[in-house]
Amino acid sequence: MTMTEPAATAVGTEHVDVLIVGAGISGIGAAHHLRCRFPERTFVVLDALESHGGTWWTHRYPGVRSDSDLFTFGYGFKPWRGPSIATAQEILSYLDEVIDENDLSGTIRYRHRVTSAHWSTAERRWNVEVTRDDTGEQLHFTTDFLWMCQGYYRHRQGYTPDWPGMDRYQGVVVHPQEWPDDLDYAGKRVVVIGSGATAATLIPAIAQTAEHVTMLQRSPTFFLSRPKTHELAVTLRALDVPEEWTHEILRRAHIAQGNELTRMSFEAPDELRKFLVEEMRPLLPEGFDIDKHFNPRYRPWQQRLAVVPEGDLFAALRDGRTSVVTDTIETFTETGIRLASGEEVEADIVITATGFDLALFGDIAFTVDDEPVDFTQRVTYRGIMISGVPNMAYVFGYFRASWTLRADLVSEFVCRLLAHMAEKGTTVAVPTLRSEDADMPLLPWADPENFNAGYVMRSMHLMFKQGDREPWTHMHEYVEECQMLSAADLDDGTLAYS
Ligand SMILES: Cc1cc2nc3c(=O)[nH]c(=O)nc-3n(C[C@H](O)[C@H](O)[C@H](O)COP(=O)(O)OP(=O)(O)OC[C@H]3O[C@@H](n4cnc5c(N)ncnc54)[C@H](O)[C@@H]3O)c2cc1C
Repeated sequence: MTMTEPAATAVGTEHVDVLIVGAGISGIGAAHHLRCRFPERTFVVLDALESHGGTWWTHRYPGVRSDSDLFTFGYGFKPWRGPSIATAQEILSYLDEVIDENDLSGTIRYRHRVTSAHWSTAERRWNVEVTRDDTGEQLHFTTDFLWMCQGYYRHRQGYTPDWPGMDRYQGVVVHPQEWPDDLDYAGKRVVVIGSGATAATLIPAIAQTAEHVTMLQRSPTFFLSRPKTHELAVTLRALDVPEEWTHEILRRAHIAQGNELTRMSFEAPDELRKFLVEEMRPLLPEGFDIDKHFNPRYRPWQQRLAVVPEGDLFAALRDGRTSVVTDTIETFTETGIRLASGEEVEADIVITATGFDLALFGDIAFTVDDEPVDFTQRVTYRGIMISGVPNMAYVFGYFRASWTLRADLVSEFVCRLLAHMAEKGTTVAVPTLRSEDADMPLLPWADPENFNAGYVMRSMHLMFKQGDREPWTHMHEYVEECQMLSAADLDDGTLAYS
């Protein structure tokens, strides 16, 4: 047995120092940080799916790719060697390399669905119940520290609104998250409902083969055409600059560019709106109604800004293979969709690119000393832990920047906390409101003024809260948080140790 393989404690029970839920980009990153920082500690990574990659394993629709650049969506610790925008397959290959280079494969268990987690103060550990999705077997783990890297949505199915008349529609309805391998869209009339990153990815990929694709949206999204490969990366690679340097330089370039867009979205939203609209104009067909279709009512970046690599969506619109309809669905008919304007769009296939079904902490039932945890009454500690929940950390990425930037920061913070606990000779850390925080107003976890994407607004009632002061907030800006977290005082009285 190697040092990092779990030890069996009782029949049917395994004990590990740290249990990571999820083998997506967050869980694999967490495992890397743990392995490097604490080679002597035992851990496992449990995932309900049959392989690693999470999002990049689940999503198989044509063209599936990142929206962010991979210099920031990749880890800080492993250079990205490909184009800025990557396919799911390229991301999975990158994760394969991380697993191999860190010898992590023996620590990951697939088809292991975590169903409940029970903290026992008397035992000073978590009891974790797991169901094997392949055999139905029930497994029991104990762990000192639970690291939740479960992502934010249900992988089993996507979110599809319940439109009138769907049952009488004679064509095929598909959610991109559950893409059938054998879906034949060649020569078919396809309607894609939605205007986000998924619609923008899918449409150019299927427009080559389908007879016609209609992007049907209730309201517009901001799009930004970007080269697939950043010019600076081309230059640095041509100069044979070490990949580590190129990765870091490109990371900084993308972060700086992202910060500038975010700054403008708050300080000069009208100017930014004009910039985004004018960037699109020359790429769209003559006479295209940008204001109606691609100029949203919300402030730029109040919802995700969708990247269009090399303007591929606009190219599909220019050559007539794709059109956009901005209207509200009144009802499905036998042959398509009737809109509020009275217009009917005929379709052989309807693709509902309508987003995710947000799941809080992987639908796991939590108890602390036999009391069910009602997360809606709890407060986030730095967007990493939850008030009153001992020895548990979670990863939730940024809305406006790459998820992995935050996953890496959270990993560094958790490792610092684990080291701090060891130095203090304590084994339990619980975020606890100080007396001066007792009357703190409890605010929604995400401020709709700041960011109000559909999946966030639909699930606000499920989520924990944040306070009006540090460390009880969830920060959204990477550079600010980077400084804040590395300077965070772990003995400021907001973590109770025992
Ligand atoms: C198509 C698509 C493109 C995206 N592109 C970008 C992008 O370019 N940039 C960006 O920043 N974000 C993007 N996102 C958001 C993306 O989900 C995250 O950035 C990132 O991949 C999340 O990684 P994760 O590991 O935290 O979660 P996930 O990828 O969701 O992985 C979580 C894993 O946890 C497992 N799990 C959950 N609950 C349990 C349980 N109870 N028991 C066991 N296992 C469990 C799941 O099976 C899954 O494998 C995209 C999302 C999608 C769907």
